[in-house]
Amino acid sequence: MFSAYAEISAAYPWVLPAAVALLGAMVGSFLNVVITRVPAEKSIITPGSHCACAKPIAWYDNIPVVSWFILRGRARCCGGAFSFRYPFVEILTASLFLACWLQLAPAVAVVGWLFLSGLVCAMFIDLDHMIIPDTFTLGLGVVGVVLSVLVPALHGQHSDFFLLASIRAATISLQGLLIGSGLVLWIALLAEIILKKEAMGFGDVKFVGAIGAFTGWQGAVIAIFGGAVIGTIWVAIAWLWQKIVGRSTAPAALKAETAEGESTAISLGAQVPFGPMLAIAGAIYFLFFRGLVTEWFAQFGELV
Ligand SMILES: [Zn+2]
Repeated sequence: MFSAYAEISAAYPWVLPAAVALLGAMVGSFLNVVITRVPAEKSIITPGSHCACAKPIAWYDNIPVVSWFILRGRARCCGGAFSFRYPFVEILTASLFLACWLQLAPAVAVVGWLFLSGLVCAMFIDLDHMIIPDTFTLGLGVVGVVLSVLVPALHGQHSDFFLLASIRAATISLQGLLIGSGLVLWIALLAEIILKKEAMGFGDVKFVGAIGAFTGWQGAVIAIFGGAVIGTIWVAIAWLWQKIVGRSTAPAALKAETAEGESTAISLGAQVPFGPMLAIAGAIYFLFFRGLVTEWFAQFGELV
């Protein structure tokens, strides 16, 4: 079985990565359903995919990425518009799955798929509703701790005694959860005293804890400060866009229409959700800087 797999991957090195990307696109399609239905407290299983006009969508019009482009973003039944966000989430998820697969050991990559899927959901729900449901903060945090026990390699822990590696990984995960959320709690309290208004929600406190459960405290710290940098750039672009186009809808392409049919604008001075910034910074850290930053913090620790 394993040798057959090795033979196939030697002869056709693109087969497995292509399968992973396809899986990612299909999961992305499911995440679109989760992003739409979880905040509305609707079932993510039934009913099946249906158009805004309530007609069910046939399977051949529901193929990830492909269908949106074939139908040019219009529903076959009533011609209603489908946001570009649907294929965007599918392409994004496919890319994240592939990036995990190419960068990480297989077991860690599978954990990465779950983690990054959670971040994608949290990000788009926060953009739409300015809130992250507990499923993607507390729930994701618990999943992070449990997966750390099952796959200690997530935190670079290996041992001849699996239990030992598990205990070490669980400790790193819990530290990440507690230090991450504790730090945001302090920043939120300080900001509230200085700015005299709520700068960060309690959702962000729980969300950073969840990121820390998967990345350790280093990842949580990087997510907070990386998120602040991304947030600054985001607001600057939104401001420039507003100046140039004269409308306050940047980056509206990524935002779904609200139930009322008008898209919620991001404008300067208005509340900008911090969750998406945390999610982007956390994902970049997880995929590209994990080893690097852990080593850097270790060296810094030796100096002190
Ligand atoms: Zn329709």
